[in-house]
Amino acid sequence: MENIIVGAGLSGAVLANLIADKLGEKVVVIDRRCVVGGNIYDYKDKETGITVQKYGPHIFHTNNKKVWDYLSKFTKWNYFFFKPNAIMEGNCVSIPFNLTTLYELFSESMAQRIEEKLINRFGYGVKVPILKLRDEDDEDLKFIAQYVYKHMFENYTSKQWGLKPEEIDPSVTARVPIFISHDCRYFQDKYQGIPINGYTKMIENMLNHPNIEVKLNTDSKEYVIFSHNENGVDSLKKVSSCKRIFYSGAIDEFFDYKYGQLPYRSLDFDIQTVDKEYFQKSAMTNYPNNYDFTRITEHKYFLNEKSDKSVISIEYPQQFVLGENERYYPISNSDTQNLYEKYNDEAAKIDGLYFIGRLGEYKYYNMDLAVERIFELFEKIGGLNA
Ligand code: FAD
Ligand code: UDP
Repeated sequence: MENIIVGAGLSGAVLANLIADKLGEKVVVIDRRCVVGGNIYDYKDKETGITVQKYGPHIFHTNNKKVWDYLSKFTKWNYFFFKPNAIMEGNCVSIPFNLTTLYELFSESMAQRIEEKLINRFGYGVKVPILKLRDEDDEDLKFIAQYVYKHMFENYTSKQWGLKPEEIDPSVTARVPIFISHDCRYFQDKYQGIPINGYTKMIENMLNHPNIEVKLNTDSKEYVIFSHNENGVDSLKKVSSCKRIFYSGAIDEFFDYKYGQLPYRSLDFDIQTVDKEYFQKSAMTNYPNNYDFTRITEHKYFLNEKSDKSVISIEYPQQFVLGENERYYPISNSDTQNLYEKYNDEAAKIDGLYFIGRLGEYKYYNMDLAVERIFELFEKIGGLNA
C-alpha cells in the first residue's frame, strides 16, 4: 500500500485524486462514516426529491481560477449567487448589512443621509468589519455601527460561539463585513456555484479512479495507532508497507489528546419537511435576536429544485463534546493556537505523516482554501503541478 488517506471529505478526495492521477500511485481512502463527502455530504430526500446538505449550507465561492477549473473537471455548476436574509426587529432584510439594508430598515431620508456618510468616509464598494465601524466618531456612523452590532452581530455571535464579537478572533466576524454597496450577495468572488448533481456526486467522481480504493465505516485506528499513557510514554503503530499517511481527522484525537483537547463549536441540525412550496424567501434566513437557533436553510433554492413541499434545516449551535456530537468550527485564539502548535510539532517528528483539512490543520477553511492547501501539499510531496 503506497498511500493512506484518512477522511473522504473534500481535502482527502482532492489529494487522493491528485496522487492517483498525476503520480500514478495507489491510494486507499478510509472514512469512519458510511458515506463520502465529509461535511459537504448531501443526499436526495426520498419524499421530496430535494438535495439536502446534511451538515449545513455550503456555497462554493472562489477567486482562484485554478481551484475552480480543477473542481469543474468533476462537476458542472448551478451558477448560484447566495443572497441570504436576516430578521432584524421583525423585518426580513438583506445581509451582509449593505446600503440596500439601510433602506429596508430606515426612512428614506435617514437611509440617504447614512448612505452618503458611509460612501464619503469609506468609498463605494468597500467592506468594513463591524469591529472597525464601531471606532467611528461621527454620530450617524456611530449610530449605524451600534445598530448593526446590536441587531446583527451581538446575539448571533453569542449563540454561535458563546462569546461577544470582540471576544472572538476578529477574522471571524470580518467574514461578514458591512458592505458599502447595493450588492446584496454574501460573496463577491468571481466564481460561485453549487455542483449541479450535488457535492457528494462531485466527491464520488474524484474518487472514481482505478488507483483509488475507498473503504467506508473504517476508522483510522485500523491502520495507525498512536497511544499515550499517563507515564508520558508514547507509541506509534503503522501498517509497515505504507509510504505516506494523510490524516484529515482531528490532530488532537490522533495524538490521543496527549496535550489536552482542542476545542470546537458544534451544531445540531433539525431537518424538517414542511408542507408548503416555499418556507422563506431565500436559501438562508438568519435570526440574530430571536429563538435559540441561528439560522434556517431552505435547501431547494440551491439547485432550484421543484416540489410542493420543502426541506429546511434549523441550526442550533452547541459546544463540541467528545463522543456526543461532531466537530464543526475550530475556535481560534492564542491559547488554542499554542495547543495546536504542540501537536503540529509532534506531527513534524513522524516521517511520512501529514495532517490536512479543517480538522487536521485546525483552521476555519472555506472549501476553496481547503483545496488550495491540498494543491500546495501535493507540490511539496513531489507532484509537479495540481
Ligand atoms: P471534513 O469535511 O470534516 O472531512 C473529514 C473526514 O474525515 C470526515 O468525513 C470524517 O468522518 C473523517 N474522519 C475524521 N477522523 C477520522 C478517523 N479517525 N478515521 C476515519 N475517518 C475519519 N465552506 C465554503 O467554502 N462555503 C460554505 O458555504 C461553507 N459553509 C459551511 C457551513 C458549515 C456549517 C461548516 C461547518 C463549514 C462550512 N464550510 C463552507 C467549510 C467546509 O465545510 C470545509 O472547508 C470542508 O468541509 C473541509 O473539508 P475537509 O475534508 O477538510 O474536512
Ligand atoms: N455573524 C453574525 N450575524 C450574522 C452572520 C454572521 O454575528 O447574521 C458573525 C458570527 O460571529 C459568525 C461569523 O459572523 O460566526 C461568520 O459568519 P458566517 O456566515 O461566515 O459563518 P459560517 O457560514 O462559517 O457559519
